[in-house]
Amino acid sequence: MKVLCIGRNYVEHIKELGNEKPENIVFFLKPDTALSHNNDDFYLPDFSEDVHYECELVIKIDKVGKSIPVEYAKEYYSEVALGLDMTLRDVQQKAKEKGLPWTLAKGFDYSAPISDFIPLSSIGRDIQNIDFSLEKNGEYVQQGNTAQMIHTVDEIIAYISKYITLKKGDLIFTGTPKGVGKVNIGDVFRGSIGDKEMFCIKVK
Ligand code: MG
Repeated sequence: MKVLCIGRNYVEHIKELGNEKPENIVFFLKPDTALSHNNDDFYLPDFSEDVHYECELVIKIDKVGKSIPVEYAKEYYSEVALGLDMTLRDVQQKAKEKGLPWTLAKGFDYSAPISDFIPLSSIGRDIQNIDFSLEKNGEYVQQGNTAQMIHTVDEIIAYISKYITLKKGDLIFTGTPKGVGKVNIGDVFRGSIGDKEMFCIKVK
């Protein structure tokens, strides 16, 4: 399986990092070794001075698909989770300046903690109207709604599957709203979809 991640999908987050709004959907990959489940502790890597959290809604692909038309994309997912796209911001910045890949900055071990998946039907709401939030040490740092996405989930699935076949079990991190920031030892991150707590991760 593969983990696909969308970059720059919320206007206010693009602004906070001083990035340009991309013409096309920006996406990158994390290896499956980036995943961690079960509220496992996150160990701050010693090869970065500036690790950032990015809280994102995660979609799980249900069946194989290639060149999926946007109007059929809904048939390819039925469960969602909440995850953190952990990012080595200093490593990423250097890569950006030199036009080099983001693989280390985004794909290091355990850079993608995720919650359990829940059926979309259990939220009882449209995929493009889901509230989610992240608390850091008891204070809200990110509060988003999928209605704020520049590219919808269905557009993302249609776009990626033009170039890369999607398979059952693949995950898509759909981008982060504003409020990203630094991760420090001792931090506790609590993520929620609506009122439902999805994960609680301690940083060591
Ligand atoms: Mg991200």
